[in-house]
Amino acid sequence: MWGRSLADSDTQLNQSSYYEASVQRPAPCAPLEGDVRADVVVVGGGYAGLSAALELAQRGMSVVLLEAERVGSGASGRNGGQTIVGYASGQAPFEQQLGAADARRAWDMSVEAVDLVDQRIAEHRIDCDRAQGYVYVADSPRKARALATEAADLQRLGIACEWTQGEETRRLIDSPRYVAAFRENRSGHLHPLKYALGLARAAQAAGVRIHEHSAVTALQRGPQLVASTARGRVTADFGVLAGNCMLPEYGPAVAPEIAPRIMPVGTYIVATEPLDPALCARLIPGNAAVCDNNFVLDYFRFSTDHRMLFGGRVSYTAKTPANLKQAMAQRMAQVFPALKEVAVDYVWGGFVDISMNRAPDFGRLGDRLYYLQGFSGHGLALTGLAGRLVAEAVAGQAGRFDVFAGLQHRAFPGGALLRTPSLALGMLWHRLMDRL
Ligand SMILES: Cc1cc2nc3c(=O)[nH]c(=O)nc-3n(C[C@H](O)[C@H](O)[C@H](O)COP(=O)(O)OP(=O)(O)OC[C@H]3O[C@@H](n4cnc5c(N)ncnc54)[C@H](O)[C@@H]3O)c2cc1C
Repeated sequence: MWGRSLADSDTQLNQSSYYEASVQRPAPCAPLEGDVRADVVVVGGGYAGLSAALELAQRGMSVVLLEAERVGSGASGRNGGQTIVGYASGQAPFEQQLGAADARRAWDMSVEAVDLVDQRIAEHRIDCDRAQGYVYVADSPRKARALATEAADLQRLGIACEWTQGEETRRLIDSPRYVAAFRENRSGHLHPLKYALGLARAAQAAGVRIHEHSAVTALQRGPQLVASTARGRVTADFGVLAGNCMLPEYGPAVAPEIAPRIMPVGTYIVATEPLDPALCARLIPGNAAVCDNNFVLDYFRFSTDHRMLFGGRVSYTAKTPANLKQAMAQRMAQVFPALKEVAVDYVWGGFVDISMNRAPDFGRLGDRLYYLQGFSGHGLALTGLAGRLVAEAVAGQAGRFDVFAGLQHRAFPGGALLRTPSLALGMLWHRLMDRL
């Protein structure tokens, strides 16, 4: 069912991206040619791969990073830009599986992940429109009760939250849709592609050799790893797989054992024409990023050039939903009636790597090959930390990596062919619940 079409659909979905239109990419890095040697080979040039490569090079290792397309052309260059503390799963899988102490360590690492974004922006002078502030919203009394629990949990974990409900909600967001909201200032937003390209520059400056248009089609395991592309081979002592949903598309034989543990789910974003700055300041005072607490969520924010970037919808197949632009514009107008008549200039999307329990799935295949996946739509900051943890582990300090590697993950029932209908059925139930 997925076959080549997932990669084709993924490429198509990046054709009209506001982010690609608002950056000047450098000339492509040359594809890999011939045989090369490195301490570590990294597969994938999104945040996870770039972060791992940067941290490994900073620890003195020689690193080759192989990217099938362009750096940041996957989810890392397309996402909502929402830089969020915590996990898509919440704390539950950590507390249930690892106990209170390691669950707390995992939480602290999610906060470190957001701090790491800011440290890198400062250290490597990455100009990526960083803004602080995050507003969580609920659109029904039932959802408001769940939101209150979320705010209480965050407070318990040390994040200050400003709670509002009823008419007061308009202080945080001027929308008739929401009945409760809270704001916290540890999370925020940025321009995701500018950040990815900044990380790539930092990695290259640290000595990482990046090759674009270099899909890894085979990976031989043994005392040494050998990663093969169409025209070259890298022999390395260690490897890091950070290929996200597209890894099985470009290299079906690279790591077939981890693919069934994530499900590619499509999500989409529209960007309006630039709006009156005064209108933006009225609709979302304080320029926060916003996200609701529905199962199929809406997430949105303003760009620095005052466009509304509105994300949402989902698809459980490679097929892009019909009338996407109109459907997204309608959804946006339900949230902000003032945006009913504005033009939508861009529409794009990508696939998130959902794990069964929505917790990140990091681990090893043998003792030399590491993998990072299952960010479940919460990966902007967490991928950076994941890269750091892999580098620590390769350098011989695996304690923090092993907190995550200790989590159990299950494959989606039905394997590659049937996981889509079974997940879609589960999602249908959650969507119905969203309407109550
Ligand atoms: C539309 C959208 C909105 C999102 N919004 C948010 C958000 O607001 N906040 C948030 O925290 N997260 C969000 N996410 C999730 C977040 O973007 C991801 O979790 C994160 O970018 C994943 O990074 P990555 O490095 O693992 O994967 P990617 O960025 O996808 O990078 C993987 C790279 O590996 C390459 N690759 C794959 N296979 C091979 C191979 N065999 N050989 C060589 N290269 C290969 C791919 O070409 C790709 O460039 C969103 C995702 C999407 C799609």
